[in-house]
Amino acid sequence: MTAQNIPNFVSHLECSWTGERAEAGVPQQLSPAGKPYLVRYDLEGAAAALTKETVAARGGGMWAWRELLPVSRAENVVSLGEAATPLIDLPRFGSAHGARAPVVKDEGRLPTGSFKARGLGMAVSMAKELGIGRIAMPTNGNAGAALAAYGSAAGMETYVFCPADTPEVNVREIALQGAKVWRVNGLINDCGKIVGEGRKRMGWFDMSTLKEPYRIEGKKTMGLELLWQLGWQVPDAIFYPTGGGTGLIGMWKAFDELERIGWIGSERPRMIAVQASGCAPIVRAYERGERTAEPWQDAHTEAAGIRVPAAVGDFLILDAVRDSGGFAMAVDDAEIMAVRDRIAKEDGLLLCPEGAATAAAWARALDEGKVGKQDRAVLFNCATGLKYPMPPAPQALDKAAVDWEAIAEA
Ligand SMILES: *Cc1c(COP(=O)(O)O)cnc(C)c1O
Repeated sequence: MTAQNIPNFVSHLECSWTGERAEAGVPQQLSPAGKPYLVRYDLEGAAAALTKETVAARGGGMWAWRELLPVSRAENVVSLGEAATPLIDLPRFGSAHGARAPVVKDEGRLPTGSFKARGLGMAVSMAKELGIGRIAMPTNGNAGAALAAYGSAAGMETYVFCPADTPEVNVREIALQGAKVWRVNGLINDCGKIVGEGRKRMGWFDMSTLKEPYRIEGKKTMGLELLWQLGWQVPDAIFYPTGGGTGLIGMWKAFDELERIGWIGSERPRMIAVQASGCAPIVRAYERGERTAEPWQDAHTEAAGIRVPAAVGDFLILDAVRDSGGFAMAVDDAEIMAVRDRIAKEDGLLLCPEGAATAAAWARALDEGKVGKQDRAVLFNCATGLKYPMPPAPQALDKAAVDWEAIAEA
């Protein structure tokens, strides 16, 4: 992006609940209805400006899609090198279940080790474009790390609040990457209240999930990139570890926009929202046939990225799941960890617990006949497995008396 201006096709913002329009180009948080805004584009204009060949020539990565993204000046793009993430087959895991190998989209390769880089890279770039200098958010870990990194790259003041039990590695990476970070004796919604109050007291812009319009646009690039990688063929099913649901909502929006610019037809993958059974508000609402989700009490799971008791975009997640013919499914932590260990050992891919949750859900859905053995299933691994606790590996050798028998038997 050497040019100063990026062709920009944003037309307006639209309340996702009431359809009410709002102006783009000025800082916006939730709509007057208290719901997320969606960014709307002049898609005819975008279709005329962008071709599949152009995208391919750019070689992938989040900014290859700039005609379908909100940033209008190249100088406002805050980038740390967001490469296209690979698709990796799990042949042994697949054959153990007598099925076609599921494919993992490994988002752990992104800056700060998670797909939060897509959403927050975009949100911070837009904050820069709109002249915002002080940003804040509550986080379970990965979002705060991405906000800290992109906030520092943009030269912004960044404030982050984490639940007290957030893993040490996350709190430290947030601090090291330049944010002011606090542990709070509560859950993510308690941290969110502090940020809400700081908007008035401290002049912060609230970067919480879906409380500004642009994080979805960054996450949307997962859907664009996935279909590009699959030769514009939609997979049968996408298993997505669902917390705030930004990625599921963003991909659903991507498919809609791709249809409107004529790159795909009306076919869609089934969208499957995966949660942990210790925090499954979306699954409960799905099963009850409700459009919004009641907050989950006493949320607990080792898969911290999906420990979200209440999501402001609950209806957007549930609508996408239902409209796609998908479903919502909860898996236990024990299942999640067993699947993580197994895939690491047998297929050589270290998933984060949230990613392993999607693999556990795929295996269960297959057993229950909810997906077919020949279906093309995509599992989202949203962070590097290296940030999470791993089982101990206690074997040691004495260099003066190497125990070859022990080695042979290991
Ligand atoms: C944030 C996060 C999620 C949930 O993502 P949403 O799009 O907000 O639902 C899942 N896994 C990991 C590792 C995360 O960091």
